[in-house]
Amino acid sequence: MIGLADCNNFFVSCERSIDPSLDGVAMVVLSNNDGCVVARSNESKKMGVKMGQPAFEIRDLIYSGKIVAYSGNHRLYREKSLKVHDIFRRFVPFTIDYSVDESFLDMSGIPDAMITEIGNAICEACWKEERIPVTLGFASTKTLAKIAAETGKKRGEKVVTGAEGDRLEALLDTLGIGELWGVGRRLSKRLYAKGVFTIGDLYRKPLVWVRSEMGVHGERSWRELHGESCIELDYVSRKMQDSISETRTFPEDIDDFDYLRARIAIYCAHVSRRLRAMDGVCGELKVFLRTNRFHTERGYQAPEATVVFTDPIDDAAELTSAAVKCLEKIFTPGVRYKRAGVVLSRIVPCGSVSISLFDDVEKADARIKKSRNLMKTIDGLNFGNYNHVVKLASQLTAGQSGHNDGYSSSFGAPLPDSGVRSSG
Ligand SMILES: [Mg+2]
Repeated sequence: MIGLADCNNFFVSCERSIDPSLDGVAMVVLSNNDGCVVARSNESKKMGVKMGQPAFEIRDLIYSGKIVAYSGNHRLYREKSLKVHDIFRRFVPFTIDYSVDESFLDMSGIPDAMITEIGNAICEACWKEERIPVTLGFASTKTLAKIAAETGKKRGEKVVTGAEGDRLEALLDTLGIGELWGVGRRLSKRLYAKGVFTIGDLYRKPLVWVRSEMGVHGERSWRELHGESCIELDYVSRKMQDSISETRTFPEDIDDFDYLRARIAIYCAHVSRRLRAMDGVCGELKVFLRTNRFHTERGYQAPEATVVFTDPIDDAAELTSAAVKCLEKIFTPGVRYKRAGVVLSRIVPCGSVSISLFDDVEKADARIKKSRNLMKTIDGLNFGNYNHVVKLASQLTAGQSGHNDGYSSSFGAPLPDSGVRSSG
């Protein structure tokens, strides 16, 4: 059995979790620049607001107060996301975080009789601890688990176990083909032209037809609908090292900030290169300093500082900028340091990181690709060169890099419109 835990109306629920007076209020959360609707409460769904609908189309509803609109508060949603995923892991040892508000739960080895009970316990914990409503679907494949969870949300049931046989087919007939996991708008249109309107229509097509019309991805979906588990999220079984570090002892005690800064930047370049080589991204970076144990006039000091990235990263520039900030925090003028180090942890395979629902997926893809290509190019040029040929400006002792704050600049959209609220 596979479970899918899916938070209901996630962004809306996050806003409500910090302001319970919004419970029962028709509300939406808007995308960057308040352009379009990216989350709807059940009340606004009933009023006919569509996912992705341009905000100006519902402007009158917002100004008249019939719908409350919020600007996205990314920081809140990411923090909530981490907490909810932690709750899932507490009940089920093996989970795959699939998106900001969804996680697959590996229920193998857990008796069927206990599954509903565990599902209910997860719902209760998420609600009690984080005030986030969650729906769980359980079935024999990931595709069917997703369908079970969707069904639960429509019916207002918290835990749904997948249907089988005739009941499954009847259920699939009620679901549009566009609701099938992995089928986007364009593919739906093509399938309509071939007379496939519902998931049930696809279910009854022969496999040969599916293979020729939809390729391997379609074939996998079809098999999953028929109960054969074959969508492997390839990072499921890949085991990652959970931290990478580089620490050095200096030949003499150092009290020069610029020197330490350059050393930290170089360690960052090394560890981030190792991170990228294993195709990982990290969620946490730590910088530490140690004084000399044998010079006791000030006592032994071991300051350290940590940064948590709610969106895990592998970008050397971002990591270095974060590390330098940590160093600024822990460095005390006049103290002489003997050792320094950088530790990357909370490492996950880069495929498992979901792009924020807010980002235009294609744009985000392009951005990530661009950054990865740049890093690959730098890694390639530097291959075998301990003294890197290509460096980031911050690795140079004298160069003032003007550390750009890459990882926090994406938070908090501006508030252009007085009709729109924000919790951020
Ligand atoms: Mg959801």
